[in-house]
Amino acid sequence: MIKFCTLASGSSGNSLYLESKYSKILIDAGISFRRISRSLGSMGLTVSDLDAVVLSHEHEDHSRAVGKMSEVPVYVSGETVDFWERKRNGHDHKNSGGPSKTAGSRNGAIEKFREFDSEEPFLINDLTITPFSVAHDAIDPVGFTVTDGSVKIGIVTDIGKPTALVIESLKGCDALVLESNHDREMLFSGSYPPYLQQRISGGHGHLSNEQSASLLGEVLHDGLKYVLLAHLSAKNNTPEMALGCSLGVLRRNGADGRVMVDVAPRNTVGEVITV
Ligand SMILES: [Zn+2]
Ligand SMILES: [Zn+2]
Repeated sequence: MIKFCTLASGSSGNSLYLESKYSKILIDAGISFRRISRSLGSMGLTVSDLDAVVLSHEHEDHSRAVGKMSEVPVYVSGETVDFWERKRNGHDHKNSGGPSKTAGSRNGAIEKFREFDSEEPFLINDLTITPFSVAHDAIDPVGFTVTDGSVKIGIVTDIGKPTALVIESLKGCDALVLESNHDREMLFSGSYPPYLQQRISGGHGHLSNEQSASLLGEVLHDGLKYVLLAHLSAKNNTPEMALGCSLGVLRRNGADGRVMVDVAPRNTVGEVITV
């Protein structure tokens, strides 16, 4: 059995709390340390109760608090740590590609990171975390599946397109946390400058509602119980539109009565889901 809930979801910050019998972890820590403490506090927990923080990529909306996570091991891809190391030593002036800053520049404790390989599963107590590469404009971005041996949760945001690897990785999940970032019409008729519209909708940006729903259709199976739509754009999407797209796919596949779909709130702790 695994329980999870988002602490925050969207371009201003992402963090997901996940708990199994023997582990308590965060996937991403893209809000302030104070907000993480407060959010965990609302569930009767403290930061020191965490066994690990696992990072999907270096963009600040996923990594903001890692510099202050001195008491918790931070698992991050080896390539991302190398990038932070080069940046800290002034050898790499390359921008990570996104508009957001990275955490590495102000992180003095790079050696404390536990590095993972983006193609290799790793263990945290009773959890097996399997990272898989995604197309996104970061150094070594990944999505994850997490299993305690009885249930499997797929967690993927910040993907430019649903690649064969993403689809393969998300098959057989009991629950999904799935990016449904924008409505294409809202994005292209909205106030964002053209370069940002291109970046978001491009193959290394974010999934539209339609792409997300189509990905859901690809990985839908009888065991899927719950879908949490995540990383919604505040300006270029509405929860209703994101839900509408995904529900449409479920309906067409006769699964709308069986699979629960919800939207992760942007700035508050979401509902605790147990699978
Ligand atoms: Zn993001
Ligand atoms: Zn990102």
